[in-house]
Amino acid sequence: SAVREGCPVSVREGGVIKEGFNAELDELVSLQHSSRKILAELEAREREATGIPTLKVGYNRVFGYYIEVSKVQSSKVPEHYIRKQTLANAERYLTQELKELEEKILKAQERRVELEYEIFQEVRSRVLSEKERIQRTADALAELDVLASLAQVACDNDYVRPRIVDEDRISIVQGRHPVVEQQLPKGAFVPNDVLLDKDRRMILITGPNMAGKSTILRQVALITLMAQMGSFVPAESAEIGVVDRIFTRVGATDYLVRGQSTFMVEMSETANILRNSTTRSLVILDEIGRGTSTYDGLAIAWAVAEALVRKGGRGVKTLFATHYHELTELEKDIPQVVNMHIAVREEDEDVTFLHQLVPGATNKSYGIQVAALAGVPLEVIHRARELLGEIEARGGEVALHEGGRRREEAVQQVLPLVVDSGMELRCYLESVEIDSTTPLEALNHLAKLKSMIQNS
Ligand code: ADP
Repeated sequence: SAVREGCPVSVREGGVIKEGFNAELDELVSLQHSSRKILAELEAREREATGIPTLKVGYNRVFGYYIEVSKVQSSKVPEHYIRKQTLANAERYLTQELKELEEKILKAQERRVELEYEIFQEVRSRVLSEKERIQRTADALAELDVLASLAQVACDNDYVRPRIVDEDRISIVQGRHPVVEQQLPKGAFVPNDVLLDKDRRMILITGPNMAGKSTILRQVALITLMAQMGSFVPAESAEIGVVDRIFTRVGATDYLVRGQSTFMVEMSETANILRNSTTRSLVILDEIGRGTSTYDGLAIAWAVAEALVRKGGRGVKTLFATHYHELTELEKDIPQVVNMHIAVREEDEDVTFLHQLVPGATNKSYGIQVAALAGVPLEVIHRARELLGEIEARGGEVALHEGGRRREEAVQQVLPLVVDSGMELRCYLESVEIDSTTPLEALNHLAKLKSMIQNS
């Protein structure tokens, strides 16, 4: 009730204390406000008394309040006017009454600022003397605010109360991502089931880009976190065994400015996970090993997966999204590894993402289809399909344990096609838009074509 909302930053300029808090202050403020009226009244009275209709009361910083009369009329001013300043066309005067009024107004302003500061100090020391009560109240309100907000989102978004279990297990039935589902039209989000327990320690998730791998990974981590902080969760039902930490290795953080390459960051995060996770942790890995060559990357991803699933004898609960289809071989050797993939419907050359997590591995990336969806020009898409056909015909998918050499050879046999000069010329020519080419640009194109032939 003391401090005005939106008061000035400085407490020494007035305007801090609310009206109605202190009677003396209110009086000073009202005097300030009414001073304009009082001055207007004085002006009217003087005009009448002197018979000078253009007489006016003004104010400036140096001389304070004055009565101004034009030179022409100055002969009419009464005796008791004291001349203060002469201007080109006017004279300025004081009267005893105006002087007294000025003093009162200026004093009121000064006193107001002073009084406000005193009141402010007083309020401050009263707050300080009650600080424990105030802080306890603030704490209680903050807690209430958190709980009420969680209750509100739980009601608004159909969350359920998770069961916290004393087991090393996370079981989510028809779970949803609390943020992604908000961004989609109502009911458009596809819920998914996830089970991690002592027999299912690691779920390897394959599926093309855009299928929803990152979403499901984050969703499991978020639901676990929400459950542990006492919130309801976006799912049909959930049983959450308390985890000691949640580790994530997910992309999209720009550390380049700090001088670390993406791959270096990826590896130091991975190192941290391998060192510090326990069998009670939850780990989500969104692609590892992509920042280096295919075979390096695959080998690292493979070794990391093995280490995690064997750690502490029981393994760490892990969700692992990967592009390396070869990794799904792990399921054969290690019973606690489960392959799942995100379903895709294929019609002719089109794909539809169903966002549904289903058992089993997939060995298709649909990279070219996703590139097409993203708007990569059709001729590039066609060419990529052609190349892929060739690569597959010459080498096919070669599993890691077969050495991988054959695929590399196959790629090398096909790759010269990419730099085939005929193809290059053709692509270049196709990219030229004759209608919008100026004669000078046409010459430049010709020069470029000639240099392409010379370099080939
Ligand atoms: P990925 O990691 O496989 O490339 P994302 O997880 O980034 O794919 O998902 C791509 C997009 O697909 C998301 O931005 C979202 O719009 C949509 N999506 C993902 N999961 C679902 C889901 N379960 N239901 C509906 N849409 C989803």
